[in-house]
Amino acid sequence: MNSYDVAVIGSGPGGYVAAIRCAQLGMKTAIIEKYATLGGTCLNVGCIPSKALLDSSHHYEDAIKHFEEHGIDIPGEIKVNLKQMIGRKQAVVDQTTGGIDFLMKKNKIDVYQGLGSFKDATHISISGKETIEIEAKNTIIATGSKPSSLPFISIDKERVITSTEALKLTEIPKHLIVIGGGVIGLELGQVYRRLGSEVTVIEYMDRIIPTMDAGLSKELNKVFKKAKFSIEVSHKVKSVERKGNEVIVKADNKKGEEVSFSGDYCLVSVGRRPYTDGLNAEAAGVKITDRGQIEVNNHLQTSAGNIYAIGDVVKGAMLAHKAEEEGVFVAETIAGQKPHIDYNLIPGVVYTWPEVASVGKTEEALKEAGIDYKVGQFPMRALGRSRASMDIDGFVKILADKKTDEVLGVHMIGARAADMIAEAVVAMEFRASAEDISRMSHAHPTFTEAIKEAALAATEDRALHI
Ligand code: FAD
Ligand code: NAD
Repeated sequence: MNSYDVAVIGSGPGGYVAAIRCAQLGMKTAIIEKYATLGGTCLNVGCIPSKALLDSSHHYEDAIKHFEEHGIDIPGEIKVNLKQMIGRKQAVVDQTTGGIDFLMKKNKIDVYQGLGSFKDATHISISGKETIEIEAKNTIIATGSKPSSLPFISIDKERVITSTEALKLTEIPKHLIVIGGGVIGLELGQVYRRLGSEVTVIEYMDRIIPTMDAGLSKELNKVFKKAKFSIEVSHKVKSVERKGNEVIVKADNKKGEEVSFSGDYCLVSVGRRPYTDGLNAEAAGVKITDRGQIEVNNHLQTSAGNIYAIGDVVKGAMLAHKAEEEGVFVAETIAGQKPHIDYNLIPGVVYTWPEVASVGKTEEALKEAGIDYKVGQFPMRALGRSRASMDIDGFVKILADKKTDEVLGVHMIGARAADMIAEAVVAMEFRASAEDISRMSHAHPTFTEAIKEAALAATEDRALHI
């Protein structure tokens, strides 16, 4: 029987990064993945393919809406070739998952394909083409998550679909009904809206992206409405019925009246659930919470001391970079180091256009905690860079402590916000004040000037360009 210092179950961004860090630290490491390709949700059916389709559909939208204004004439009709678009997405996925194979080889990590199942706290059975058993002093559970649904919905994967199917449709929906106005619903909703689908988003809460700062929801809502999305907030979906190629969704609106929506596809994007099926966690003494998550302490250690868990299968934000940080954290903990993660400074990004990005506390959270804060906000439209590329929607908002000027939260919506948020993360990691940011040189013309201007606005209400 092969024996390891560490076995990692699951090869998503949590698992494969944990395995690499364990190998770097000199531990004999194995990784177990039930699917044929490595990379988990993120690389196969999550972050990477969704961004590939967002990029392709963005190019199409630019071509049909903006090229002419830029002085680019394309003779003939511009058409979507969905097969090619989905094919390109798959090529990006294949290249990226292939890259993980390379990284496993480079770091001398043994890869096992099959379902990993605990026999006890130090033995794992792997059922793939054949069933084998390995021994591991330590195990890292990184089994991730699956789409969740509502009890009365039957996902048929043809017309009533999850994000996994939405990434490989063979036709452009005429009317896509999206249940859930969170990250997946808005990103994939925007893909198909750009390609010509009518899109209706039905959200239970009173605003889209309800966990982010309310100012961001309001601005994104405005932009989406301009793009002719139908957005129905404060709607409680109560039934989803398929009749041939038609899907009928019924919901109660704010007044309690029943409203009905009819489309040809319905994307159910109401969150994801931790995935532990087949893991046989109990055999190893690993406890699972009422919410289906693996229970962990502050060291991400489970109730079985030599077994750790990370990523979507434990509490916290379901984000690839959060899973990666936890992978490194656990590898270093097993190696006897004392790593640290500041969960407050894990950024959240929605890759719509304009992009939405956030780090730290929202205004709502600061109010609730009774913290005195000041706000500096700067609109993207006031930047020369924004006008040059015609990306004028959005703003940067900096929230700083009223007394100390320390930056407590940064919330932005606009072109390239996904990349710009890194500046805010660095500043907050070093506990910068708004004045610190305002005194740093930001290249002109860039979108990042909005961060400097928002910092100036927060410091002494002295933004320069508005
Ligand atoms: P996963 O990536 O889910 O990987 C778990 C792996 O474990 C899977 O490969 C699974 O097959 C395997 N596994 C499970 N059980 C077993 C077992 N018993 N034996 C062997 N293998 C097993 N996050 C971002 O940060 N940015 C984004 O832009 C983003 N976009 C997304 C878009 C979509 C459409 C979706 C669905 C998700 C997106 N996410 C994004 C979320 C991100 O994909 C997850 O947070 C991330 O993949 C979690 O990583 P993980 O390693 O915890 O688990
Ligand atoms: P989400 O939690 O972002 O959004 C789900 C939305 O559905 C919420 O707004 C919620 O209020 C709403 N909802 C819940 N029940 C409802 C009901 N009965 N009727 C109507 N609306 C309802 O979840 P998601 O969009 O499914 O994404 C799942 C996970 O994947 C998220 O945790 C997210 O972090 C991750 N993800 C991240 C990215 C990214 O980082 N860009 C992209 C995609 C997915």
